[in-house]
Amino acid sequence: MERLRAEQRLRVTELRPARTLNVAYDPGCTRCPRLAEFLARTRQRHPDYWARPVPSFGAARPRIVIVGLAPGLHGANRTGRPFTGDHAGLLLYQTLYEAGLASRAQSHSAQDGLRLINARIVNTVKCVPPGNKPLPLEVRHCNSYLAAELQQLRSARVYLALGRIAHEGLLLALGLRRAAYPFGHGREHQLDATHWLIDSYHCSRYNTATRRLTSAMFVKVVARACERAGLPGARASARAAPD
Ligand code: SF4
Repeated sequence: MERLRAEQRLRVTELRPARTLNVAYDPGCTRCPRLAEFLARTRQRHPDYWARPVPSFGAARPRIVIVGLAPGLHGANRTGRPFTGDHAGLLLYQTLYEAGLASRAQSHSAQDGLRLINARIVNTVKCVPPGNKPLPLEVRHCNSYLAAELQQLRSARVYLALGRIAHEGLLLALGLRRAAYPFGHGREHQLDATHWLIDSYHCSRYNTATRRLTSAMFVKVVARACERAGLPGARASARAAPD
């Protein structure tokens, strides 16, 4: 499979995040006016929703960092935990559980006791965007948080990007050139001697309903992430056969 190009190997010898604000999360951030206004309207309509920037979730010293897009309106934006409360998390948490990366197969709420093992989920954009579509400027605004968090997660060996926007946000946060690492489902990019970027289509309702991303495809990509991270991923192998 090796898609690694020799010149990439030479160019990237050490990962350095693009910016170093050293603040990975600010629950009161309103840097994106459009998103802050949307959150304010959401709080009025749904006073019981989290409706703030959604923090990352998982192990403090992960081997695998899973990078999502943004909170869903009635999912993470409601519950306060990434990929929790709507369809997008069903395949993700089930697969993480089967790979030995989660203590349970479902994530119901931020208080349900679920733990991630050797894995952490971060979002490219921490506030829910209207229509699930953040603007490029909003991705750039939030990238300083992503860059700060990646800098703190020194144990990480594999970045698993869910979708093209997550892939590009991750490259921006790591200070890497987009053209050198094209996105593609199942593609593996070696970033330096010990770090890998692995791509997957996003596990959204649309992608799974249209079978652009099947369960077998996602199991396989998570199994590869475990392999690259030096983790057993034992339970995933049981579902690795094509569906
Ligand atoms: S998306 Fe990120 S940068 Fe923009 S307001 Fe939310 S937390 Fe702040």
